[in-house]
Order: sequence, then structure tokens, then C-alpha cells
Amino acid sequence: MSEDLSHLLTHLGEDRERGYDAVVPPIVQSGNFTYPTVAAMRHAVQNEMEMPLYTRGFNPTVAMARQKLAALEHAEDALLFSSGSAAVAAAVISFTKADDHVVCVHKPYNWTKKLLSELLVRFGVETTYVDGSDAENYRRACKPNTTFFITESPNSLTFELQDLRVVAAIAKEKKITTLCDNSYSSPLFQNPIDFGIDMVAHSGTKYLNGHSDVVCGVLAGSKAHMRQVMSKEFMTLGAAPSPHDAWLLVRGLRTLELRVNRSADNAEKVARFLEAHPKVKRVHWPFLESHPQHALAKRQMKRCGGLMTIELDATDEAAVERFCDHLKRFLMAVSWGGYESLQWPVCALKGPDGYLTDLPFNMVRLYVGIEEAQLLIEDLGQALGKL
Ligand SMILES: *Cc1c(COP(=O)(O)O)cnc(C)c1O
Repeated sequence: MSEDLSHLLTHLGEDRERGYDAVVPPIVQSGNFTYPTVAAMRHAVQNEMEMPLYTRGFNPTVAMARQKLAALEHAEDALLFSSGSAAVAAAVISFTKADDHVVCVHKPYNWTKKLLSELLVRFGVETTYVDGSDAENYRRACKPNTTFFITESPNSLTFELQDLRVVAAIAKEKKITTLCDNSYSSPLFQNPIDFGIDMVAHSGTKYLNGHSDVVCGVLAGSKAHMRQVMSKEFMTLGAAPSPHDAWLLVRGLRTLELRVNRSADNAEKVARFLEAHPKVKRVHWPFLESHPQHALAKRQMKRCGGLMTIELDATDEAAVERFCDHLKRFLMAVSWGGYESLQWPVCALKGPDGYLTDLPFNMVRLYVGIEEAQLLIEDLGQALGKL
């Protein structure tokens, strides 16, 4: 496995002889491509999804990234989008139509929820949100017109899991198409297709690129599913990535194995430190024995990523703010999955009309990056002292 993985990340799809034998593949930063004859152009027009014609449909640098991403997710093919949200949206739109019904895990990524509750509802697609910690809730929510299941295991704020094998089996029985947002685990720690899930989405912005300098998204699945999405939603909605971003993604992938394992090593140390600290009420991280779905996490995930949420023993927002403002090594920023550790306090979601979320004010999401764990722990210790 590791031999395959290292080949995949460093060589697969790179065809160096087609790029001057350069060690680093060139960026084909061209919007369109030329042909010597009408016959050659006709051939390209007929194979727009597999051949250079126009970069929205096919670009050699993007194709290199797609080949690696498909292999990483044990999929036949993958598409690269200009954001993770675009990948999720294209998948759901492609497999639903007016009067269809979707079952989605509750508390999915915020923009997945908006896609369903604010956009697709206008086109007659209805959604039921279920507590996915009992996978049978997917079956219970089914109606005669249910065509699509959305899972996100674990989700990236409260870290609830769904048993993907069970959800996929229910879907197969009822001929329902399934999607899993696998951003949290990265393809190294979990492969939903192995459990029978049809399509996997990633925010490539997070672990896959890993350097906080690209926004991109991935959808992986069977050739048939990817062909359908590509020929319709991918081409018409047009959320294609730039070749330069695809190239940066390929560069980021070279260190994927090193980065995610380091982040996971650090997260384990940080999670155990925080769990033992008297000022921390709770740590939400699936590989802690205290996580309510710990056994499922161990069964379904090879390791656990660097994102976690803590609940502080704070009586008011001012105390949370003191903790956050005193953290020096966790940059205060959204997103995650880069080299740098981050913090994202729920109390930052308080607007003039109150909270934009129903999560408690004492929650702070932490992303543990690839710095020295001891430095991160010392920093958390001193900031907890300010609470
Ligand atoms: C960030 C994120 C997304 C959206 O990805 P973008 O690249 O920001 O569009 C989707 N799902 C999860 C779990 C994420 O963390």
C-alpha cells in the first residue's frame, strides 16, 4: 500500500516525456488548443471530456491531478472543481430533479445545507435531515421519491459519524445514489468507496492541497457517474479549476502522507492534553475513547485528522475571548488542513441580531497543523490560564 501510495503521489500521471522530461511537470496555462486539420479538430470536439479542446472541459495539468485523485479514493475517475462546494453542488444537482427527495445527515458543512435548504428547494427538491449516528435513520426518512443520500463522516464541527457501510447498503437496496464528503479524513484515513458509497467529495482546499494557497474541490466515483456529472453540471455550471491551481494541488499532494500523519500525531497529543485539562469540559475528537462513536471511528477510519472542537469551562463570552486572544500559535482564521494551526471560535458568529448558529458559545474549533506539538500544547496551556 505505502509503495503504491508513494508512486501515486510522486509519479502517477506525470508523463514526463510529454513535458520536455522536466522533473516538475509544466503548467499548461492555455485556455484552448489547436489542430492541424479539420479531421483532428472533429476528433477533439467528439471527445471533449478526454482531450484538449477547451480548458473548461479538459486540460492536461488538471488531468494529471484527476488521475492521482481517482487513485487516492479507489475510484475509476475524478473531477477537479474550483471549490469543494462546487463539487458537492454538481454531484447533488446531477442526481436530483424536481419532486425528488434527499436524505442528508444533520449538521453537514454549512454550504451543503444552504445548497439543499435555500437553492434546490426552489427547484422542487426536498430534503430531510437525519441524526446519522443511527444509520437506520436514513431508511426511516426514505419516501417513494428519495433518490439521493448525503453523508459527511465525521462532520467538521461536532464530529458525528455515520456507519458508511450500513448507509450504502440501505441505498443499494432502494437504488438510491450516495455521496460522502470525506474532507475530514482525507483519502489516506478513510475511503468511502470501499464501503459501497457511490461518490466521494473533498474540499481540496484542506488536506489535499495542504498549503492554504488554493481553493479547489474534488468529486470521485465510477466512470459512468463522473461522465454524467462532467457532461452536464460540470460543463454548464463551469466551476473548472485553473491549471495553475491544479499544478499547486499536485505539488501539495507530494507531501500528503507526511503532512496528514504529522497533523494526526500532533492532534492526538493535543487532544489528550486538552481532555485532561480542568478548564476544558469536553473535546470532540473521534479517536478519543470518550467520543460516543469511538468504536465506529476505529472501525471505519485508519487514523483521525487534526481538526477537533473543544468546549471551554467558561461562564461568559469574555472568558472565551480571553482564551482565544491569548493563543499565539493558533492563527485565528476559517478553513483548515494547511501546515499552520488554526482556531475558529463559535462566539465569532455573533452578529447584531444574535448568533448565526445554534452551537454553544463556549465551543472553539482547533486545527492542529504540522508545527512541534510541544509548542502548541504550551500555547494552549498558557491561554487556558487566562480563562
Ligand atoms: C471547506 C469544506 C467544504 C467546502 O470546500 P471549499 O473548498 O471551501 O468550497 C466542504 N466540506 C467540508 C467538510 C469542508 O471542510
